[in-house]
Amino acid sequence: MKNIIVVGNGMVGYKFCEKFVAQSGNEAFKVTVFGEEPRPAYDRVHLSEFFENQDAKALEMAPAEWYAENGIELITGERVSDIHRSKKTITTVKDREFSYDYLVLATGSSAFVPPIKGVEKEGVFVYRTIEDLEGMLAYAEKVKKTNPNPRAAVLGGGLLGLEAGKAAMDMGLEPHIVEFASKLMPRQLDSRSSQVLQLKLESIGLNIHLSKATNQILGDKAITGMEFGEDDVLDCDMLIISAGIRPRDELGKTCGLEMGGTWWYCG
Ligand SMILES: Cc1cc2nc3c(=O)[nH]c(=O)nc-3n(C[C@H](O)[C@H](O)[C@H](O)COP(=O)(O)OP(=O)(O)OC[C@H]3O[C@@H](n4cnc5c(N)ncnc54)[C@H](O)[C@@H]3O)c2cc1C
Repeated sequence: MKNIIVVGNGMVGYKFCEKFVAQSGNEAFKVTVFGEEPRPAYDRVHLSEFFENQDAKALEMAPAEWYAENGIELITGERVSDIHRSKKTITTVKDREFSYDYLVLATGSSAFVPPIKGVEKEGVFVYRTIEDLEGMLAYAEKVKKTNPNPRAAVLGGGLLGLEAGKAAMDMGLEPHIVEFASKLMPRQLDSRSSQVLQLKLESIGLNIHLSKATNQILGDKAITGMEFGEDDVLDCDMLIISAGIRPRDELGKTCGLEMGGTWWYCG
């Protein structure tokens, strides 16, 4: 029997499993999937629905039992830390080693966190995983206890940032979108369309701040505001960073895979 190891149990890692299960002749292979997150793959595209019911199971692509029933070993909460191509093994952060005949990298992306001074402060979040949302919900409850009119800023006025702004509003925080460009959704919209969008969003309660470059995040231990320039400060109790994503290509790089623009080629 040949071993297939899949690194990453996001939507793509799951899709591989689904396609594999549907293939005839798959009994000649043993598939083992590693996921860094503590749960089976879920529908990240609909992540915001978690705010409605906080039901992580409802977002699952398939329950853990589905993998077992289909002969797939799913190992969650364990990051693959190294690939040893010469001996065809991987090791994990738990120092466990597994051999493979075929290796599938489905490691996806992570949220980009710009290197702004103070970005490590309490109350600063990214918008990528269920754990991020759980953290935000808990933090929102905490700030609401001490501040009757708490504010959340969102760094990034792209599609995801606007979704995060709506989430902030739903959590009972006054939402402020902070965008570096001079218009919302600068990659997708022309100026006129962006203005129409801005008016619409303002009418439902989103506060929009354009052409803002953040110099630093203020506060001692926890965030209290964002500083854009001298005397240009936005007070806020929480910050959600939505400044794009970066490929999780660290494994490919460290094991010497030739990197392409968007695809990897295994030499
Ligand atoms: C709120 C939100 C809304 C979105 N809306 C849309 C949309 O409307 N349309 C759209 O097309 N896209 C949308 N996206 C993007 C979409 O979710 C991603 O394109 C998709 O999730 C990519 O799937 P993936 O499996 O390639 O990567 P990921 O979802 O990033 O999953 C990769 C998984 O691999 C794991 N992993 C990484 N490295 C390792 C390792 N070394 N060992 C073990 N595990 C590892 C990660 O922890 C992660 O669980 C949205 C994203 C978000 C966050």
